[in-house]
Amino acid sequence: MSEVLEKWMNPNVAGIIPYQPGRPIEEVARELGLDPVGVSKIASNENPLGVSPKAVAAIHSSATDMHRYPDGGAYYLRSKLAERFQVAPSQLVMGNGSNELIEFIGHCFMDEDRSVVVSAHAFVIYKLIARMMGSEIIEVPTVGLGHDLAAMAAAVRDDTSVVFICNPNNPTGTMLLQDELDEFIDKIPASTLIVFDEAYAEIAQGAMPDMLKHVQSRPNCVMLRTFSKAYGLAGLRVGFGICPAAMAEALQKARQPFNVNRMAQAAALAALDDDEFLEKTNAIIAEGKDYLEQSFADLKLDFQPTAANFILVKVGDGAKVTEALTRRGVIVRPMAGYGLGEYIRVSLGTMTENRRFIETLADVLNT
Ligand SMILES: *Cc1c(COP(=O)(O)O)cnc(C)c1O
Repeated sequence: MSEVLEKWMNPNVAGIIPYQPGRPIEEVARELGLDPVGVSKIASNENPLGVSPKAVAAIHSSATDMHRYPDGGAYYLRSKLAERFQVAPSQLVMGNGSNELIEFIGHCFMDEDRSVVVSAHAFVIYKLIARMMGSEIIEVPTVGLGHDLAAMAAAVRDDTSVVFICNPNNPTGTMLLQDELDEFIDKIPASTLIVFDEAYAEIAQGAMPDMLKHVQSRPNCVMLRTFSKAYGLAGLRVGFGICPAAMAEALQKARQPFNVNRMAQAAALAALDDDEFLEKTNAIIAEGKDYLEQSFADLKLDFQPTAANFILVKVGDGAKVTEALTRRGVIVRPMAGYGLGEYIRVSLGTMTENRRFIETLADVLNT
């Protein structure tokens, strides 16, 4: 082993098991000798409609400005978001995806002497960042496949700096309701940061509880949102946090000056103006959800009803089924890394992709 690594590599970082993303279409196509056009990727909860045409136009017209550094303060984007959410621009922190906000939270609030509370079967990035910072991870078992809020509140200790709530939860699709969240928040000490990760809020729509009221009335709440899902900009990496101004000022200290690139800012601004794209996105997701849930019932497969744009379905050996689907050109996500080895998670795609998935799954399960 390299002496440098042995002697100096931060053991917290060395212990990290890298995040397993959905496999890129190009990689699978290359491996199978297929035309990429013939491969369906329904593994990363990406937008089935692609990119908003307004965002595409903004991307094109920003291209000739790419010799310029971005606006590090993202003035226009933060102003527009502030107006949208009825908060002050000083309450917004922009990230290279909302994943980066989780990292800022880690830098600001986690270290070896602290603990972090998460739910089992929740977004793995929380644990990954906590581990990187050397914090103890307190993982609370779920009820059904959803967060057990009472147990999570009870798990918070004096040394717990952060508790993560993922709602709707990725990868289970479960949804927490207003009343139970309000009750939970009342039980958390003001000295513990509560993070509401709401990556699928625009998809959950009316069912989405209002966490902004807590952000506005408490010093210890942060809400995370992203442009990667409903807004279809996963490739550009832009997300944000909304929190009290003092908290935002703290989180900004962990942020690199140009973390959100110029093209991403232009595209996100335009995407916020494209209500039609958002409506179409939600229509296709609703149609896909009905179709998949009905199909799973027909195939006698257990699934978790979802509030987001993906469904967790029990298939027996998730890794084997994923591999067999991949060989047939359908990429889904195995769930062993989430402690759900019997399941796969499938994103709601176009109806063509959804039908192909069901046909291929039926074929795989019968052979
Ligand atoms: C997709 C997702 C995010 C955001 O990802 P970014 O692309 O980094 O914005 C955050 N949390 C959850 C639970 C997600 O599923």
